[in-house]
Amino acid sequence: MKVSAQRRRGFVAVVALLSICAVLLGACGGPKEETAYKRQLFAMGTVIEVSLWGVDEARAAEAVRAVEAVLNDAHVRWHAWEPGELTRLNAALGEGRGAEVSAETAAALRRAQELATASGQLFNPAIGRLVGLWGFHSSEPPLGPPPPRDAIVALIEAAPGMDGLRIEDGRVEGDDPAVQLDLGAFAKGYAVDRAIEALRALGIDNAIVNAGGDLRAIGSHGERPWRIGIRQPASQGGIFASIETHGDESVFTSGNYERYFDHEGRRYHHILDPRTGYPAQHTLSVTVIHGEAAAADAAATALFVAGPGEWAPLARRMGISQVMLIDADMKVYMSPEMARRVRFEAQPAPETIIVDEAG
Ligand code: ADP
Ligand code: MG
Repeated sequence: MKVSAQRRRGFVAVVALLSICAVLLGACGGPKEETAYKRQLFAMGTVIEVSLWGVDEARAAEAVRAVEAVLNDAHVRWHAWEPGELTRLNAALGEGRGAEVSAETAAALRRAQELATASGQLFNPAIGRLVGLWGFHSSEPPLGPPPPRDAIVALIEAAPGMDGLRIEDGRVEGDDPAVQLDLGAFAKGYAVDRAIEALRALGIDNAIVNAGGDLRAIGSHGERPWRIGIRQPASQGGIFASIETHGDESVFTSGNYERYFDHEGRRYHHILDPRTGYPAQHTLSVTVIHGEAAAADAAATALFVAGPGEWAPLARRMGISQVMLIDADMKVYMSPEMARRVRFEAQPAPETIIVDEAG
């Protein structure tokens, strides 16, 4: 793994070998594999892998350029701390006023606002100040110690939220200086959706855009489905589970091992519970399968915060039917729809608990 390059990533964490993440399986050998095309590039602070089926070299190169352009555009617009559109908007919001934004940014923020509402604000992209206080607005994970409790409590009591923002075409109005936007739990998914749109506009119907282990797959790999592997959480193991994608599906994982520091025997990671201001407890990782990548990304974060006791009713409320949550004891919780399609590759197969729609 190109750890040094990945260390520079800004939106989300290093995808090390330790992480749970989706990888493309079965890409070697055989005459049928020859029209599969795979290319890596670096964008949004992570390694992006574009896989295509049934296109020639020239169209593949054009497709990869289109994906790269979309993702670089997203990086410049929506990075949480590198100067761009979002940091300009945040500066204005911090002074209790609004700012002009591009149509692209207005659309992204509107979708983020809807998902925040659907998640009961457990996905809350208005907590940028809190993320910054914990030291996660830096390409290197912070070293600790945790910030003072008083400072955390003060930010929580200010109750930043997306609801107060009025998002119009070309302008965002807000009068709450507690609101600072951080799209770290959403922008990658949203950008992957835009990248898939760009591929479709080029007439490409069989592809995967994999952004550091989070991906959207469309179509198939010739006569068979795309096969996706999900890596072990927090251990050096290989493929933990695999699935085959059908049609158009996104697979997104949020994990506590992506960006963190250890302090006095406790781990402090980058997925914060907006109710307490502290890293969400009890969960190692959440994997969501859903059509829209932006919703899968936001939901993986929200369900991580909800944890083993609360994820099922929240998933239902968010319209997410395929979830796998691994708790701190390595117990695997799944929705019935997820359980039907996941194949565990690791031996022995983990203890699993299937949580039906009743939650
Ligand atoms: P991953 O890095 O595993 O893809 P996420 O998609 O869950 O993780 O995104 C985590 C990032 O989202 C954090 O680094 C931070 O910028 C931001 N964030 C943390 N907690 C929340 C939250 N509760 N709601 C919205 N954004 C959050
Ligand atoms: Mg997310």
